[in-house]
Amino acid sequence: MRAIKNLFVLVIIVAMLVAVGAVALRVMRGKPSGVEEIKQGIVMASSVSSYVYAAKVGNKVILFDAGADPDGKPIDALLAWLHATRGDITDVFFSHGHGDHTAGAAGLRNIHIRLGAGDIALAEKKVPPEAFAGKAFTTVMGFPAVTAGDPLTGAASIEVGEAHAGKEGKDAKKVVKAFPIPGHTPGSYAFLYDGVLFVGDAMIFKQGRLDPAIKLFDAHPDENKAAIRQLQKQIENEEIDIICTGHGGCTPKGLGRNQLTDLVARL
Ligand SMILES: [Zn+2]
Repeated sequence: MRAIKNLFVLVIIVAMLVAVGAVALRVMRGKPSGVEEIKQGIVMASSVSSYVYAAKVGNKVILFDAGADPDGKPIDALLAWLHATRGDITDVFFSHGHGDHTAGAAGLRNIHIRLGAGDIALAEKKVPPEAFAGKAFTTVMGFPAVTAGDPLTGAASIEVGEAHAGKEGKDAKKVVKAFPIPGHTPGSYAFLYDGVLFVGDAMIFKQGRLDPAIKLFDAHPDENKAAIRQLQKQIENEEIDIICTGHGGCTPKGLGRNQLTDLVARL
């Protein structure tokens, strides 16, 4: 009887800790870090370790991932830094459909939401994340469903900026190159813009180097490794100045290519 009572008390304590942790996380996701410039016109901010990247293309803004805050506070911090408003955003490119990358787009209207077709159901919350930790995190955070109106299949080049908005100008030829990297999720993508490669959760930058996705949140580590090797081949002839990750920020400027080579050697 006593053992059952103790167990009951323990369950209550654990439940309370989870509840307190959940409230803390939900508060913290609305408190973005400071804004950092990665290279001219490309900036990053994060909350609860989820990064949002924004690039100014002419007078327009494009986003790479939208962060974990449904109110989009990290996005607003980036826009303020860029002297832009939400109305200037034309596109958000999702690295994948997990809620800690898509939630921030819930309040954005009239933009192209680009996401690998394989992750559409995930972003719409019609299927749960596969990894247990991802499932638990998503439940605790209560991420909103996000509908991606512009699904991606295969490799693609997408025009952005003024040309994208239907005008001619010096930014007319700016493109985002999209590379499928199915692994972390079926619809995972890497995006290359202006020498910066955005890889979402396929990789993480920590302690000065790139590593594969965090195992606890990754249901398919082998597929992810294969995707990283494949990506290296796909971008062989591209300029890779910097690599930016979903939860660890970016490699130092100029070291992107070398750090990817180093990661592939360790896979
Ligand atoms: Zn993820």
